[in-house]
Amino acid sequence: MKVTLEVGHGPYRDRDGSTGFEEGANGRGTTEYKEVTVMANIASRLLRDKGYEVDVLDPMDTLEAMGEYARGSDVFVSLHLNAFNGVTQGTEVLIHRNGTAEDEKFAQFLLDDLVSTLRLSDRGVKRQGLAVLLGVPLSVRAACLTESYFVDAVDAATARRYTEQAARAIVNGIDRYAISRGLNPKPPASPSPTPTPIPSPSPSPSFSETLTLVNVAKFYKGLPHQNAALEWLQQKIPSETFAEFARRWRQQ
Ligand SMILES: [Zn+2]
Repeated sequence: MKVTLEVGHGPYRDRDGSTGFEEGANGRGTTEYKEVTVMANIASRLLRDKGYEVDVLDPMDTLEAMGEYARGSDVFVSLHLNAFNGVTQGTEVLIHRNGTAEDEKFAQFLLDDLVSTLRLSDRGVKRQGLAVLLGVPLSVRAACLTESYFVDAVDAATARRYTEQAARAIVNGIDRYAISRGLNPKPPASPSPTPTPIPSPSPSPSFSETLTLVNVAKFYKGLPHQNAALEWLQQKIPSETFAEFARRWRQQ
């Protein structure tokens, strides 16, 4: 089983080659980007220890390349932190407004572990148009975005403690999800000495055209990714599908 973790914010490069750096939310002596980078490092190590294959994506990649990297993954988690007024605190997990039932179940597993580990208020699984998990290929069975805590409501030391706890919680959530779905983290260790069984055809993804609109590419509203993502998407999917996507996007 393969997991893709995406580090929210940080360096980016658009299709036109322009680059920039974006820290995400500001904390008190730390930033969202710094913390989710640490979170991705801890979580990827723990997942590999459990036998999962892990890709960590940093948005230095172009949108198109991110889609390529996520190919072959079973689940996709974008790591973010929240910020509001310096006081509000809690945990939430986002899926896209048009996310699938499987996205929602996956998000709930992660939320449950985050809430029981960080012991912050449970703000629920939310559907939002904010972060479209664009670039995530259709073969990925579930995708979500974690907002583990509000980075602007704690000092840097507390933020780091929450970051470490969140990494462990997200790993537990992924693991519980995988077990619930009968997904084996470890690929078969060695060829069996018995005759190789005829491989059963892998179940074809049952995504409808509607759902393909959810998972085709990635961008964050308001970031320079947006235009590049739309241009990229336009070249990848039928014009009717793109028109429907653009219509929904405008409604968000
Ligand atoms: Zn963010």
